[in-house]
Amino acid sequence: MAQVQRMSRLMIKTLRDDPADAETLSHKLLVRAGYVRRQSAGVWTWLPLGMKVLENISRVVREEMDAIGAQEVLLPALLSKEPYEQSGRWEEYGDLLFRLKDRKGADYLLGPTHEEIFTLLVKDQCTSYKDLPVMLYQIQTKYRDEARPRSGVLRGREFHMKDSYSFDTTDEGLVESYRLHREAYRRIFERLGLDYRIVSAVSGAMGGSASEEFLAPAAAGEDTFADCPNCDYAANTEAVTFAVTPVEGASHPAVELLDTPNTPTIESLADHLGVPASATLKNLLVKVDGEIVAVGVPGNREVDLGKLGEHLAPAEVELVLAEDFEDRDDLVRGYVGPQGLDKVRYLADPRVAPGSSWITGANAEGKHARNVVAGRDFEVDEYLDVVVVEEGDPCPKCGTGLKLDRAIEIGHIFQLGRKYADTFQLDVLGKEGKPVRVTMGSYGIGVSRAVAALAEQSADDKGLCWPREVAPADVHVVAAGKALQTELALEVGERLGAAGLRVLVDDRAGVSPGVKFTDAELIGVPTILVAGRRSGEGVVELKDRRTGEREELTVDEALARLTS
Ligand code: ATP
Ligand code: MG
Repeated sequence: MAQVQRMSRLMIKTLRDDPADAETLSHKLLVRAGYVRRQSAGVWTWLPLGMKVLENISRVVREEMDAIGAQEVLLPALLSKEPYEQSGRWEEYGDLLFRLKDRKGADYLLGPTHEEIFTLLVKDQCTSYKDLPVMLYQIQTKYRDEARPRSGVLRGREFHMKDSYSFDTTDEGLVESYRLHREAYRRIFERLGLDYRIVSAVSGAMGGSASEEFLAPAAAGEDTFADCPNCDYAANTEAVTFAVTPVEGASHPAVELLDTPNTPTIESLADHLGVPASATLKNLLVKVDGEIVAVGVPGNREVDLGKLGEHLAPAEVELVLAEDFEDRDDLVRGYVGPQGLDKVRYLADPRVAPGSSWITGANAEGKHARNVVAGRDFEVDEYLDVVVVEEGDPCPKCGTGLKLDRAIEIGHIFQLGRKYADTFQLDVLGKEGKPVRVTMGSYGIGVSRAVAALAEQSADDKGLCWPREVAPADVHVVAAGKALQTELALEVGERLGAAGLRVLVDDRAGVSPGVKFTDAELIGVPTILVAGRRSGEGVVELKDRRTGEREELTVDEALARLTS
């Protein structure tokens, strides 16, 4: 028999006002409706109703992970430093990692993700190709000292993640494990009632190859993805890459020097010459592991420093400072041009393709040059797609103008390959009796983040509005009146519960019907059943939380409707 929860005994205190520090809708509503409570920045307590939603999501995740043959384990969150030191991530994670010491002074960390530990686990447990493939998962609390933990459970410093790892002896095996996860993720997010897109992603610090993200479109999202209205192309903007298409056939006049006093910025230059900014070539100077490097992009485009960092990782990218110029006569600030920049590595956007012609700095104060042609007057050492993608940029697949949308990253799947297996020498004995290096995949779902993503996507101006599979109850029965109504509400609740439905009964005494209705809409259970004025006749009102449609029915009709 499913559970009947009486509100009179439920620990819940709903709030009429938004918490002062809340920025996103899900943050406001989950706090106001009594699902979560802030403990400290990015650290949350899950209250009874919140636990139900979290558990419902976890259950769906478990069922679908089990269905692809993954096995559940639980690894510790408190981890010793050594494995992370060996993989390099003790350092690489920088400020994101929670580090601590035990009483003997030994270094520990709180796990941000567990590739290292799973690799060691499989090294310990699996010795032969016969033990593989194996897929392992856990649903566990993760710790990351996020810089801006401001959006409630969307970005916690302590949060719940399902992470899984696949171990195969062959590349084809890895592709298959990846495919199984991809399918399981699709089933999970469909069952949860989440609107989502699968987009290609950059692998970043993980250092993998194939990788895709599952994004839930929502205004509160911190990710931007590019979506092609014409074909199936969709990618995180960080992963959008344009092909370098050489400009052919044009014959360009020779380089011409221009007197352009006081034009150190693109705007002042474009103004002075009466040309669009897109005709100019902007050369940004950055330090890559301490070495000054120039990055050329069209003057009307912005460099995405995050994207640049991802491309050049693990090198460290910093902006140049005035003192970096002190002994560099070849670098004239505001007037840098790639022609004659022999001592500086030149990276450029694909739009600076061979044969394209530009107005750019002439490497002398107050001077620019016209007809500076890529491939003729300067060479590009490396093409990197590092500009901020803009609405209307051509789709890399079909050329149609891209649409940009905000989204929440709810899942991420990676073909890691042998990176961690190499680090920890994870081999198994192969068919021919020789050791074989194992290849790995890693796959995450933000379980607590999914609560917020679902709240974001389904809420309306009255409050939360859960898809049925994740809702804390199937039916919210409201006793709108006194003893008679309460008695009927409890009776209906018991009968619904006996029929297998999860029921919340608002039997609180001394709380007005108005307050109970407002709370019911705020809490967001999909069906609301009101025992009100006509309770004496055995008539109740059934209301759909989402559409607001209401209907008066006899108790028997209502029960038949809800249990059919
Ligand atoms: P983000 O780019 O949002 O920081 P990430 O790329 O660091 O995420 P992964 O390391 O791939 O995330 O983690 C797997 C999943 O865990 C993510 O897809 C996301 O759903 C979830 N997740 C990551 N960081 C957080 C966090 N701070 N709070 C809640 N969920 C998170
Ligand atoms: Mg990511």
